[in-house]
Amino acid sequence: MKFTSSLLIVLATAGLTACETNTVSGRKQFVIVSEEQAQASSAQAYAQTLSDAQKKGKLSTDAALNARVKRITDRLIAQATVMYPPSKSWKWSVAVLDEDQLNAWCMPGGKMAIYTGIIEKLDLTDDEIAQIMGHEISHAMLGHGRERMSRALATQGGLVLGSVVAGTDLSGLAPVADIALNLPNSRAGESEADRYGIELAARAGYDPRAAVKLWQKMAGASKGNPPKFLSTHPAPDDRIQALTALIPKMTPLYEKAR
Ligand SMILES: [Zn+2]
Repeated sequence: MKFTSSLLIVLATAGLTACETNTVSGRKQFVIVSEEQAQASSAQAYAQTLSDAQKKGKLSTDAALNARVKRITDRLIAQATVMYPPSKSWKWSVAVLDEDQLNAWCMPGGKMAIYTGIIEKLDLTDDEIAQIMGHEISHAMLGHGRERMSRALATQGGLVLGSVVAGTDLSGLAPVADIALNLPNSRAGESEADRYGIELAARAGYDPRAAVKLWQKMAGASKGNPPKFLSTHPAPDDRIQALTALIPKMTPLYEKAR
């Protein structure tokens, strides 16, 4: 992470708290974007993404697929609000984007999307879709979107910082939300999202073994032409191993929810 000196001066003079402890993970995070700002700008970026997709005919109209994805995410959301109560007030939403990409995401505030490419090419089961979306929802619960936005903002220097410090004008933040979506998650962030994602899915009644299967499929698909998903989700070699080790702990949660 690189910060310009002018940015640090602005931060210092504005007296912004740049470090917060996430209530789910207990980890201290560098954030210069408030939860409210992150959610408002994400809502803007999400509306824009959906409207662009609709114009291009890329918003899936497959009723059965939309219903399938919604049924899965609804069960995950019910558990997310237990694991992270502030998410009860989120305006959750999920879209199915009719694009070839292997991709899925969840913005701050619960604005989600999954691409038909990842469902079709990896021939995903409901359990595997639940693992992907559980992982993405965990990024949002764990405040990773805010971290990425803070990073995007910091690397843009003082460009939009004035409006953020003032806390009023959010127009400058929507592009930041967009940029943040395309930034890779940190290795620590990925491990956290894996850990909480598999638990979220298990509590919602989805097989924890599917997390391992999913990453095996992903690894198979990434040979030659790395999928979009992997550019924002650096996959450490020990990911499958770490998820495998979590299965015994998650199985009772899964059995209980089933
Ligand atoms: Zn991730």
